[in-house]
Amino acid sequence: MPTNLEISRNTVRKPLTDVAADMGIEPRFVEPYGTAVAKLSLETVSELADRPKARYVVVSSLTPTPLGEGKTTTTVGLGQGFAHLGKRAVVAIRQSSLGPTFGIKGGAAGGGYAQVVPMETVNLHLTGDLHAVTSAHNLLAAMLDNHLHKGNALDLDPFGITWRRVLDVNDRELRQIVTGLGGRGDGTPRQTGFDITAASEVMAVLALCSSLPDLRRRLGRIVVGYDRTGNPVTAEQLRAAGAMCVQLREAVKPNLMQSVEQTPVLIHCGPFGNIAHGNSSVLADLVGIRCGDYLVTEAGFGADMGAERFFNIKCRASGLVPDAAVVVVTVRAMKAHSGRYRVVAGRPLPEEMLRESPDDVYAGAANLRKQLANIRAHGVTPVVAVNAFAGDADSEHRAILDIATEEGVRAAVSTHVAKGGKGAAELADAVAGACEESGGFRYLYPDELPLADKIDVVARRMYGADGIDLSPTARRQLDTYTRCGFGSLPVCIAKTHLSLSDDPDRKGAPKGWRLPVREVRASVGAGFVYPICGDMRTMPGLSSHPAAERIDIDDAGRVVGLA
Ligand code: ADP
Ligand code: MG
Repeated sequence: MPTNLEISRNTVRKPLTDVAADMGIEPRFVEPYGTAVAKLSLETVSELADRPKARYVVVSSLTPTPLGEGKTTTTVGLGQGFAHLGKRAVVAIRQSSLGPTFGIKGGAAGGGYAQVVPMETVNLHLTGDLHAVTSAHNLLAAMLDNHLHKGNALDLDPFGITWRRVLDVNDRELRQIVTGLGGRGDGTPRQTGFDITAASEVMAVLALCSSLPDLRRRLGRIVVGYDRTGNPVTAEQLRAAGAMCVQLREAVKPNLMQSVEQTPVLIHCGPFGNIAHGNSSVLADLVGIRCGDYLVTEAGFGADMGAERFFNIKCRASGLVPDAAVVVVTVRAMKAHSGRYRVVAGRPLPEEMLRESPDDVYAGAANLRKQLANIRAHGVTPVVAVNAFAGDADSEHRAILDIATEEGVRAAVSTHVAKGGKGAAELADAVAGACEESGGFRYLYPDELPLADKIDVVARRMYGADGIDLSPTARRQLDTYTRCGFGSLPVCIAKTHLSLSDDPDRKGAPKGWRLPVREVRASVGAGFVYPICGDMRTMPGLSSHPAAERIDIDDAGRVVGLA
């Protein structure tokens, strides 16, 4: 099979105005950025508001291995699959960060014959939205430090500042730094650091806003730290939010591209999946929901994390109601959940894991069953998508389908990576069936439930914990947030995505454990409180041999070496 890059390069693309026309969007709303991508003006949201809504489908997975289970690929493949049933679908996915592109994971455009093209454009800068987020974020940081330097009229506690700086690169050297070194005129020395741009609250704000005025309001609500009496200080008080919004006025518009089969694809925003909600933008979905029979979107990580946040954070912000949820399953992840093998990022799979063994697959069932239950806990009908890999045995696919049958869930083996939309037609049919059963969607908890109880509900009902253990710091922070009026926000629990528990090595569906909460932070502008459970890296590092070493430009000016 040709590489992702070769497939992308040999694809014939439609003019983007034609792709928009397939969505029922007139050319005057299409703002081209070259020939491969266009922005859609925000007027489309109101312009299309009278149209019927598409069925809304979210794609997540069982608890993933470090290799990725193919959610993006399946999201794109499913969108393509609907066309083979004579239906119109729109796909909405996250924008990738340059960190992983040059780091370990490779591209985020999907794969094989289920990818967004051209993949270089998807993976390298796109329309510069991440740079706009970086600039807006760092403007606030500069204005904050300037405020300290110019006399600190707001009485900010230098030790109470939570706003750091961001860059879109994996650079561990920047995690902890001291700024303001030099003389009296060079600023106020203090310890701070950089996070990767995807971890910026500005990114989460952009992803969750539902209009330009809403973006402006949310930016103003960002809390940068606390004053000496413990009251929050906001971007509005620093008078930075207006200029930040100006910097984001283009980035707020969804980006339109297409798949290898010319399916419309909206690529917009890429908030982190642990300390933020890990979903593409509300605005892209508000457009896409009016543009076809189905809108298919991806939620990062397993259903306990990405889908839970999709339901309780993203759908709360958009008011949209999901009709069905796909859980992507791979043979390799099922085998990993058997607990019989150890899968490590950046290393080849253990040799024994590659031989045919439906028994190993079946032994990993507990995790899949739990993730299906997690979807059902929200009143949404799940569908199992078996993302087929070349080395899989039929007997192993059969084992997954048997588990789905036992759970009373629709399932299909999908070969979209090898065959494109044709290979996902059966999956599309199963999803269409699930959508016909929709109607019972509910949030996991009400707004007014106290923050500690919200964490407890997610820990027990999604992760299977026996309860939570709040550290004294976490307890104090929750009290502060409640006192400051943030108590009605939803929670976004930052824990490892590699286990249902807080321990990445515990596979399957761990029982008899409690979730320790070390500290709790608040993204007030984005609109969630995030408890930290475990070691959360917000600035990744590079490996001994980062992907960047293989990426180059050839004599014809083409990019080579992108995964
Ligand atoms: P996720 O969104 O779950 O992280 P992706 O869809 O980005 O996963 O896929 C992760 C990687 O695995 C990509 O490089 C993709 O090309 C590859 N991949 C996914 N599914 C398949 C498959 N069925 N066969 C071969 N490679 C695949
Ligand atoms: Mg993905």
